[in-house]
Amino acid sequence: MGACLMVDALPDEYEDYTRRLIGLRVGDLFRFRCTRCGRCCSGGPNVSLTVFDVVRMARFLSISWKGFLRAYVKVIIADLIPHMVLRGDDKGRCLFLAEKASGEKLCVIYPARPMRCRLYPVLVEDLSGERVFLDPRSPGVGRGSPRPLPRRLIEHYIWERREHYRRLYRVIVEEGFLPIRGLYRVLEEAWEEAEKGAPWADLDYLAGLGSV
Ligand code: SF4
Repeated sequence: MGACLMVDALPDEYEDYTRRLIGLRVGDLFRFRCTRCGRCCSGGPNVSLTVFDVVRMARFLSISWKGFLRAYVKVIIADLIPHMVLRGDDKGRCLFLAEKASGEKLCVIYPARPMRCRLYPVLVEDLSGERVFLDPRSPGVGRGSPRPLPRRLIEHYIWERREHYRRLYRVIVEEGFLPIRGLYRVLEEAWEEAEKGAPWADLDYLAGLGSV
């Protein structure tokens, strides 16, 4: 059994952080301008991935989904369901974070970056699609002109997240695959869909859904 962090053992700063999250309703205006500080990509390998993220990134890098998993993904199995997160380096920085000579940070897979990164600092935890949170730790929050939240992008992310778990549930719980085998099966299916031209695999289509 994996380690379990008891709620009453959470550090004070965690409670403080969750209390400071800025709640918004989809349709509200928000202000954010990226400062290219790279902080959001340096805080640990904590970007969770769906099979759609993995297939897009692997195709962008012209490698197989299996090769991508081996090199860049940590898989954690909890209650039969595999969860994928991006690996970081020994300092917790994302393996795709690069730095220009000027010190400016950049993501080397930016057009195919995971949906969580695409949406950051907007955090979509409520899958009803009605409420989101802004992460107050981002120095870009509160900068720039007020603009609406990217509703279509948020809706698409919710679709991908639901679909990801629906497919895993189908193969693992209903069809009886072992968790890792089930994950491979779902990735293989998603890869085939992408090869046949599924809209979610088209980076221009995704870019057209709006941005944060
Ligand atoms: S994939 Fe790109 S945007 Fe996402 S954490 Fe890594 S460097 Fe940052």
